[in-house]
Formats: sequence, structure tokens, C-alpha cells
Amino acid sequence: MLCAYLDEEGKLKLGDRDIPEVREDEILIKVLACGICGTDIHVFKGINKGKPNIIRGHEFVGEILEAGEKVKDLKIGDTVIIDPNIPCMSCYQCRNGRIHLCKNLTAIGVDMDGGFAEYCVVPLKQVYKLPSNIEPVVGALAEPLACAIHGIDRVGIKEGEDVLIIGGGALGLILTQLSVNAGAGKVFVSEPYKEKRDLALGFGASRVIDPGSEDLIDVIREETNRRGVDVAIEAVGSGKTILQAINAASDGGRILFFGVAPEDMLIEISPFEVYRRELTLLGSFVNPFTMDRAVSLISSRRVNLYPLISEIVPLKDMEKGIDIASSGRAIRVLVKP
Ligand SMILES: [Zn+2]
Ligand SMILES: [Zn+2]
Repeated sequence: MLCAYLDEEGKLKLGDRDIPEVREDEILIKVLACGICGTDIHVFKGINKGKPNIIRGHEFVGEILEAGEKVKDLKIGDTVIIDPNIPCMSCYQCRNGRIHLCKNLTAIGVDMDGGFAEYCVVPLKQVYKLPSNIEPVVGALAEPLACAIHGIDRVGIKEGEDVLIIGGGALGLILTQLSVNAGAGKVFVSEPYKEKRDLALGFGASRVIDPGSEDLIDVIREETNRRGVDVAIEAVGSGKTILQAINAASDGGRILFFGVAPEDMLIEISPFEVYRRELTLLGSFVNPFTMDRAVSLISSRRVNLYPLISEIVPLKDMEKGIDIASSGRAIRVLVKP
């Protein structure tokens, strides 16, 4: 089967491998689509290291071709999505309900072979069925959606609260929809690309901001009677936008660090300001117990993921897909084996 893996030097290679064998508690799927995530781009560009010889790709959807003996509730031909994150269930964090903070966390497409391949074997417990009335490619965005649901859980938006989302990428635009669904009052989205700002407006944002031509903090002050937003969500991962999120929040506000910043990045914040303005700074990491809710939102069409797919490239043109995905203009690029 055709696949894209990392060689010993961490370079992306196209290769031909045997179709993997299925054990009793596993299923073999034919991959229908797999998203190129920002974390993949970091590895392909050499910014972060990836395990050699592993087939990457963790945001994927497929069709069941073969199921092990222990598989009962799924059948051949079902469309399924994958939760890539596998907790150990025996460490302190797992035993206390924080499976995503597992000390032995492994992930499909990171530590073991993933979805940039024609076929993939996955453990039954990582698989969720997608209803047949949903376009299968949308399933490649289920895992990012599940991560965004966890972010909204963390920051706890209440009816009528004003929310700012900085960054209109796939996650920013999903967070926009979830904030509207959660009953936010005004929803502001700051994003440099017009196409993405227009999508945000279509998803229910009350006001979009072009950070290239407007001062984000001035706009937020003006639109909130100089108060600031109750909730500021940073979905970029840059130092500048994290500071913007802190400055845009009202006194007593909550700031969610959602974007993935470089591991060695530091920012300067005033502890006095956090104390005196009683700010709450929150992190959000991956998708604990949110995959079923992601499937429910997709099935009921309470979120619209289709417009977030900018391009679908064949697996053999993986390099081209990475170039498009890292251009900034694209939202999500999918690979179709
Ligand atoms: Zn991802
Ligand atoms: Zn664990």
C-alpha cells in the first residue's frame, strides 16, 4: 500500500508497505481522508522532531474493511472516525479522569502508524461510527472539533458573555461556531485573511477584525463599552496574540491558551495585573471524552465543517498538500489515498 512516513533523518518519504494484519480487538480501515494538522507541518518542516519510520496522520476517517473477533457493534462498510490519543488507563492522571494528561500517552500517526496511507489498523476502543448521511470527508475534522469542544468546556462560556477568538484557522472557525452555539453575546474574530473573516461572519460572528488594518484592542474596547471581553480565546500560538488576548479580556475575564506555541517560547506578563484584574489563564490540550459529542454535533449539523476543507490532494502529491497547508491562506488540507 502507498503511504507517507518519516525516514531516519525526519524527512517525509512516500513508500510502499504491506497492508497491516488485524488482531482480535482491532479493525482494518481503508482511509478515505486524512487532515494535515499544524503539528504535522511542524514535523515535516523540521521545527519539531517526529519518530522515524512512522506513518504520520492522526485526523482521519475511513471505511471498515475487516474487523477482529472481538468487534461486535461495528460492521464491514461502516464509516468511522478515529480518536488518535491512547491513554494507558493505569497512571495517576488516567485513574483520576484526566486521560489526556496520561504520563504514557501515545498517539496514532505520531507513535504508531496513522492515516497518510491507503490502509490503517486501529484499536477498536479508538473508533467512532459516523452516520451514513454525513459526507465522509467531514469526518477528517472530527478530532479537531473534539479538541475545540474540550477548549469550550475548559473556558465555560455562559449565555450572553462576550467572546473574542484570535485566529480564524480551522480551530478558530470551529471555536467560533461552538461559542455561538454556547450562547455567547457578541462573538469577535480577529483574522488577517478576508476569506476566513467572511466564513466567521457566516458562522455567526458579530464583528470580525482585520489585525492588519485595525487595532484589535481599540475595536474590542469600543464594542464592549470599554469593558473588554468576558472570554478571550487565543487560537494562533504566537506571543503577540497571547498578549492581545490578555489585554482584550475584561477584569475578571478568562483567557484560553488554545493555539500551539513553540515549545521554547516565553512571554512577559505582569503578575500584578493577573492579581489585580483577577484574570483566569487556562490551557486546553487535546480531546478527553469529547469524541462522541463531536459525532453528535456533526450528525445534527450543529457545526458546519465542510467549508473548512480548502483542498483535497491525492496521497502521491503529499508534498504539494504540505505546501498549500503551510501557506497561511488554506484552512484545512486533506489527503486522499
Ligand atoms: Zn491535529
Ligand atoms: Zn495514563
